[in-house]
Amino acid sequence: MRDQRWTDPGQQPADQELDTSLRPRRLDDFVGQQKVKENLRVFIAAARARGEVLDHVLLHGPPGLGKTTLAQILAHEMGLEIRLTSGPAFSNGAELIAVLSEQADRRAIFIDEIHRLSRVIEEHLYPAMEDWRVELIIDKGPNARHFNLQLEPFTLIGATTRAGLITPALRSRFGIVCHLDFYPAEELAVIVRRSAGILGVTLAEDGALEIARRSRGTPRAANRLLRRVRDFAQVDGQLTVDRAAADAALNRLGVDALGLEPLDRRYLETMARHFAGGPVGVQNLAVSLGEECDTLEDVVEPYLIQSGLMMRTPRGRELTARGWRHLGLQPPAGGAAAAGAAQGELL
Ligand code: ADP
Repeated sequence: MRDQRWTDPGQQPADQELDTSLRPRRLDDFVGQQKVKENLRVFIAAARARGEVLDHVLLHGPPGLGKTTLAQILAHEMGLEIRLTSGPAFSNGAELIAVLSEQADRRAIFIDEIHRLSRVIEEHLYPAMEDWRVELIIDKGPNARHFNLQLEPFTLIGATTRAGLITPALRSRFGIVCHLDFYPAEELAVIVRRSAGILGVTLAEDGALEIARRSRGTPRAANRLLRRVRDFAQVDGQLTVDRAAADAALNRLGVDALGLEPLDRRYLETMARHFAGGPVGVQNLAVSLGEECDTLEDVVEPYLIQSGLMMRTPRGRELTARGWRHLGLQPPAGGAAAAGAAQGELL
């Protein structure tokens, strides 16, 4: 069995309750993402002043950064009921039409992982998003009859971790497109302090910052680590979680000073020791590590790249000077890392 990844940004079954209890309900309580919030405030105020529904919103960015939370806040601020669903939940067009045509006044429909809707199903969304109607086709071939079903106006909020997989036709139908980015440690520390307040954990300022620094810029990971750190502190009889307590607990969980876990370190080590720092193709790395390419691309690489430890180049993956140093190794002179050194230094 594979080790549990404490900083995995995706939702694990055990997170569901935690995610719900820690979700901010109002835009003012949503920490960070300043530009996105400012813009949304304007769009909400304008739509309300006109007495119209909010334009359709597409939220994109890595998992665990607050897309579902923001969708719920948007609905709340607009005074809308929200229907939560996800792309993989639909196996045919009729199921989507059933959701779109549910009798409900003033509502938002949230489709998580919207890039996973098949093209055929997605096409039902176009007229629904543009003119509040869906087209029903009854019977087949020469007997086919088309009916238009009028819908109540609604706001579609789509979320995706893979903006590149959204078809241009769908993307162009969203009036508002927002990108959520990883959070700096200072903002994550605010989130951790807020969560500690809700969970009843006494947390020192430096304890919050230590958890924040090791949470890979991701609120879901920060909240999960906070909960585990709380367990260690409690068992050790530590009433206040300070930096030393957080550090000890995170080390025991195998989360290092940058927030890397065993698989991240194995990834970097394999690149250094088996492939001389690259360039190496992701398939080769996946075989060496016994992992799926998708896991490496979706879970491992984004944060390693963001931290300046490695790069994706047209020739393959390359370790930067910073990556070599994080492993306690010297970058080879004139090797692949030399080109990436500048990037590594900057981050
Ligand atoms: P996503 O839909 O992007 O995977 P979620 O909206 O489910 O992420 O967020 C995961 C958890 O992180 C939520 O429970 C929420 O408590 C917390 N969270 C995310 N963004 C923020 C934020 N900006 N401020 C406070 N908490 C946040």
